[in-house]
Amino acid sequence: MSKKKKQPKVRRQERRFFPQSTFSPWLVRSFGALGAAVMGAGALGMQRDMFAGDEKMKAIPSYLVAGGAVLTGLAIWLGTSSDPPLRVGAPGVGVERGEIRRMPWYAVEAITFESGALSLVVVGKDDTGQSWTLKVPVKAQPDAVGWIVTEAQRRIPKTVDIADEVLAKLPRAEQHAGLVVDLEPVQVVGKRCAASDKTISYEPDARICERCERVYFKRSVPKKCKCGANLAHLRDAKGQDDALADEDESDDVDEAAEAEAEAPQDEKDSSKAAEV
Ligand SMILES: [Zn+2]
Repeated sequence: MSKKKKQPKVRRQERRFFPQSTFSPWLVRSFGALGAAVMGAGALGMQRDMFAGDEKMKAIPSYLVAGGAVLTGLAIWLGTSSDPPLRVGAPGVGVERGEIRRMPWYAVEAITFESGALSLVVVGKDDTGQSWTLKVPVKAQPDAVGWIVTEAQRRIPKTVDIADEVLAKLPRAEQHAGLVVDLEPVQVVGKRCAASDKTISYEPDARICERCERVYFKRSVPKKCKCGANLAHLRDAKGQDDALADEDESDDVDEAAEAEAEAPQDEKDSSKAAEV
């Protein structure tokens, strides 16, 4: 592995949020506790063979076990929501249904609030480019709502279109909410540069906006990302092809030839750096 000058490592994480049951937690717990108690009593009866002498009573313990199991099952069913877990973090907003479908921050077009359904509405495209509208109900996913809003305000503030008085009433991003998951770095090979449309074929050529995770070719990094983040620190010291960064693709050929001519020099530099 060559030790090339890379983007400083940013710890990539996201939070995983399980949906809350919309049933009262006390109801769920009562069913659960009652189920366990009844099952326990039945099991004890069976074990001690309490009603062994009476033919009619003999079956009671097994009925108790069966009844208790039904109550416990009901508690589990009431306590489990059919809504999928959500993920909020560096790669955007994701929904877990077997695989994770994600909407990267750079692909979010608008974040609004539907006061009738009490849901946060995230409109944009998923990571395959398909249009997607994701509704997150406050009741089932209060922590996810809090984190989506907070992260979006920091990363892509222009897309958050929610009145201040509504924002004030929404759940907050609790520090201990959800389960923090460590993530792999962004898979950049095969992605297209957001400024030049050039396909990234070599990982060290990529520069990533830390806020929205837009990917840029190292020499096409604009001064400012489309999300509003300052990208000056990611611009190549050797000089930027600003014409290209400003979406002028006319000198694409020169750019490619230049890159090829430069490549061996880069190799030498890196081997030298590795020796030191
Ligand atoms: Zn950005």
